Amino acid sequence: MTVTRFAPSPTGRLHRGHAFSALFARAAGTRFLLRIEDTDRTRCRPAFEAGIYEDLAWLGLDWERPVRRQSDHMAEYAASLAKLDARGLLYKCFCTRADIAREIEAAGGAPHGDAAIYPGTCRHRAADDVAERVASGAAYALRLDVAKAAACTGPLEWRDRDAGVQKARPELLGDAVLARKEFPASYHLAVVHDDHVQGIDLVTRGTDLFVATHLHRLLQALLGLDVPDWRHHRLLLDTDGRRLAKRAGSASLADLRASGVDPKKIVMELGFEYNI
Ligand code: GLU
Repeated sequence: MTVTRFAPSPTGRLHRGHAFSALFARAAGTRFLLRIEDTDRTRCRPAFEAGIYEDLAWLGLDWERPVRRQSDHMAEYAASLAKLDARGLLYKCFCTRADIAREIEAAGGAPHGDAAIYPGTCRHRAADDVAERVASGAAYALRLDVAKAAACTGPLEWRDRDAGVQKARPELLGDAVLARKEFPASYHLAVVHDDHVQGIDLVTRGTDLFVATHLHRLLQALLGLDVPDWRHHRLLLDTDGRRLAKRAGSASLADLRASGVDPKKIVMELGFEYNI
């Protein structure tokens, strides 16, 4: 039995890239679950969640109920976070994006690269400095001290069914943000918890998240969670070779439906079978 899931965030209407990802997950598993990743309440909208159900049904997909909605489980993420904190693996980071860019530039790095790694400015702040900043109401993020965390677990591996066994390299992401003040869950923390709770044994998602999987493997080890296999699928590109994304204004599935496109055609063009 292979349990897979599709885990969209309801921050906009789905487009063909999401359709590919959902169909990939469905085709890779024998049981197929759905999860609504709506921890970022500032960007998520109920109407987009309703749109997800409509669009997936239009594509001929069916999923097991109940659907897991992350915003219903914030206390669980807070508990995971507290476990890591109790082991001294988290620290408060008060840096703004601009602070981080400046630090990296000063050290001779490229400030705006996607791969910019947090330079560790707040990693060793004195306790009274931290307390003073917190008391003054400063905003902060909670970062994982990745070197310390990796030293706790020792070397780890994970299996990508396409790319083979990988040596976990969580340091590639640096000290990742796991939570923010008054906001106990980052994507990384919630995703590993939920995949465990939902019994997902094959995580499928785009190659853009391949590097994140190194960190997820470390979090699973730290939190005693089940370790699935992974598959990272290609990303769909538009005709200019850019990644299909909501922001780039690519046609949504709702637009395609409204213009009378046959969903069967879309599913088949994406390389899958239409099952209705
Ligand atoms: N919510 C994530 C996204 O929209 C899902 C990533 C994953 O499948 O782990 O990209």
